[in-house]
Amino acid sequence: MKLLMDEAVTLLQEAKDKHGDKLVYSCSLGSQGIVLIDLICRYNLDIRIVTLDTGRLPQPTYDLMDALRERYGNMLHILFPDAGAVQAMVHEYGVNLFQKSVENRKLCCQVRKVQPLKKALHGMEAWITGRRKDQAKNRGDIAPVEDDPVYGLKKYNPMRNWTEKDVWAYIREHDLPYNKLHDAFYVSIGCEPCTRAISMGEDPRAGRWWWENKDTLAECGLHVSSLKAPKGEGESGDGI
Ligand code: SF4
Repeated sequence: MKLLMDEAVTLLQEAKDKHGDKLVYSCSLGSQGIVLIDLICRYNLDIRIVTLDTGRLPQPTYDLMDALRERYGNMLHILFPDAGAVQAMVHEYGVNLFQKSVENRKLCCQVRKVQPLKKALHGMEAWITGRRKDQAKNRGDIAPVEDDPVYGLKKYNPMRNWTEKDVWAYIREHDLPYNKLHDAFYVSIGCEPCTRAISMGEDPRAGRWWWENKDTLAECGLHVSSLKAPKGEGESGDGI
């Protein structure tokens, strides 16, 4: 555990030293995200932390935002989608458009997640993610630092070598707040209508957009560059 912590903190410090205020951590508030928030705050790394409120999050995620605020102060910057873009999309396709086709689901993720994230990354040089190698079969080759051609940034992955077991050991050891949906077998938690609990042995990403064809990667397009899906398929998220 100490080794994993040292490795993560060293990479975070390296990123901060290199990029200063042009570094941002986009946090999904998943279990590994909570560990990262704790490390950033515990070691006073002064890294900007942002998270997305898509407008469709489950209540336990909002409860977690409040719990984090109580524990660490006002360090979490909550991003929202453009109200006009959401309004136009909902007017055209309906509030539950994501249930009707893969294209609609991708549009919804674009408007509610990808566009606000792009805005937050504008002018940045680098971003941090909480991606881990053990999260999905297509994440086995995550490097510490990657080029992100989609956003034109460096991407730092300090949690890549942590396993789910390591993450939960850290959370328990430090009594960190976490999303209570994890206690109900939710692994990857995103928007309320697009997230479900999984069964023993299922891929963690099986809890997202499960009604789509199983060949469609369960990704939202936030980390397209690091995976190998055909062009046009959204890829790997931070769990958002
Ligand atoms: S996860 Fe679902 S509700 Fe959330 S932005 Fe994507 S399609 Fe829309």
